[in-house]
Amino acid sequence: MIAVLVSGGKDSTATLLVALERFPKERVIPIFTDTGWESSITYAYLNYLETKLSIEIVRLKSRKWQDLLTCIKEKKMFPHGNQRFCTYHLKLIPTAEFLAEHPEIEEVWLGIRASESFRREKKYGDLTPEDTYSYVETATGLPAELRQKIKHLRARLPIVDWTEEEVFRFLKEKGIERNPLYDMGHSRVGCYPCILGGLREWKACWKTEEGRANILKLIELEKELREMGYNGRIKDNYDGEKLLRLLKMEDVQGDLFKEETCEFCKV
Ligand code: SF4
Repeated sequence: MIAVLVSGGKDSTATLLVALERFPKERVIPIFTDTGWESSITYAYLNYLETKLSIEIVRLKSRKWQDLLTCIKEKKMFPHGNQRFCTYHLKLIPTAEFLAEHPEIEEVWLGIRASESFRREKKYGDLTPEDTYSYVETATGLPAELRQKIKHLRARLPIVDWTEEEVFRFLKEKGIERNPLYDMGHSRVGCYPCILGGLREWKACWKTEEGRANILKLIELEKELREMGYNGRIKDNYDGEKLLRLLKMEDVQGDLFKEETCEFCKV
């Protein structure tokens, strides 16, 4: 059996389509790991994929944390470059637990492309779509017991050498819509907003009622943490107030704060 990690983004959707082309549906298990903080547009898109492709997408959630907000609240800090606890707790662990409970799964397919960034080029640039490697190699920090249970799993990146253009073209050829978030200014699909995302993602998120409400909740949480004496800061160099000012400024372009790429959430 092949597990395909699906996020609702273009790359993982293309990866899912490749899997469904190569194998009968019964051999493909699409898995979406829900942080509880995704856009309603993404949830609707997953429903669309299920209907369109006549498949069922397994939805997983952390058994410990209800959603991203709860996780931040209990950790008493926001995730950042060196502290990606959100990915670990909300994505990596639930996925590993599911994989450990399904020994029939032999391979995990991920929608990672080398041309996405310099870092990915460096890491995956030598791989071909046919290469496989140990899945636990990418799942760093897993508890030893869990690691042991999934150490047999191979990972594969079937679209590792594709360009972004090829991905969008492939979806079109297959008659599959792309997640509408791409047409609303987003370049990636994940938490809404992803705390590690760049200004472009935050600004696109700010434009919708749902996104604005989520951002205001994060700013409120930052305030709460500070009042409790914790040094909560939404972004490394931007606190909630400063961020809010930036989001309200219509003419701010480019990325004023660094965007961190998230290996796992990207899939
Ligand atoms: S999408 Fe962003 S905020 Fe959400 S779990 Fe991934 S890195 Fe964390």
